[in-house]
Amino acid sequence: MKKLVSVVVPMFNEQDNINEFYKRITEVMSALPYEYELIFVDDGSKDRTALLLNELVQKDSRVQAYLFSRNFGHQLALTCGLDRAAGDAVITMDGDLQHPPELLPQLVQLWEEGNEIVQTVRKSTEDASFFKNITSFVYYKMINAVSKVHITPGGSDFRLMDRHAVEAFRLYRERARFVRGMINNLGFKYVTVEFVAPPRFAGTSKYNFRKMLHFALDGITAFSNVPLRWAFYAGLFFGFGSILLLLHVIYVKYVIQDAVPGWTTLTASVLFLGGIQLVGIGIVGEYVGRVFEEVKQRPLYIISEHLVKK
Ligand code: UDP
Ligand code: MG
Repeated sequence: MKKLVSVVVPMFNEQDNINEFYKRITEVMSALPYEYELIFVDDGSKDRTALLLNELVQKDSRVQAYLFSRNFGHQLALTCGLDRAAGDAVITMDGDLQHPPELLPQLVQLWEEGNEIVQTVRKSTEDASFFKNITSFVYYKMINAVSKVHITPGGSDFRLMDRHAVEAFRLYRERARFVRGMINNLGFKYVTVEFVAPPRFAGTSKYNFRKMLHFALDGITAFSNVPLRWAFYAGLFFGFGSILLLLHVIYVKYVIQDAVPGWTTLTASVLFLGGIQLVGIGIVGEYVGRVFEEVKQRPLYIISEHLVKK
């Protein structure tokens, strides 16, 4: 019996990419000696994405689509696909053709050679702005300085996972997800493949600045307690500093007996310590907020419809 390969694709307002994506992925997959299923997850699109997905579903029994009740975000759309994929191997990739389907035979080949996670690494993105390149570079340096698991720079959510790795991944139910970090936390036999991401086939990036920032913060707080420790060390440092300052104040008052000019020191130290305290509270608050999100135990995503061929 042929093995089954699942391809999971999150789609958010991708009406102009769907048919081209379907065409290219079908060309690649039908040439491989596997059964395959295509699982689209429509992350609450407002355009004709769901409609077009339904057309594909009715035309091709290998295609199915889950529609979310609203936008839950790329990472949760991926999670939904991984939860429901039945394949012996599951490939996740973007639907805008920035993850070239033509790379799939190589991923599958590496899987056949015994690798359980085949992770692609983006060498560069052809149309990425200077700003995106710089922020991405700095971000990965930063996250790897504080994180307990190594997060590959340029790592994308374009990867193949063996069924065993997928089953392990399903046990991770946290809300704030940084899937590529979670994958590195799983273990398993791991290999990377480099690729150059072409520009989007159509449309613009669905990650706005706010989504990007949330994603970045999730990545750091989900894998590291170091920021909490920074707050503690900063508190210690400035606490000690203020004792020295106090000695200075006593010295000025009783030894030099000239207390009034202390105004500058006082104002400066109050402002400075106030600032540091706010930073500390902010960091603690970020983690407390995440604890709150997790303890509510809300569903990670809500499916409003599962489209399969009638
Ligand atoms: N996406 C999603 N939900 C979102 C944002 C994006 O499902 O809230 C999908 C999007 O349709 C695409 C993939 O996630 O298939 C990657 O998004 P995008 O191409 O916008 O990100 P970029 O390549 O710019 O980092
Ligand atoms: Mg993209």
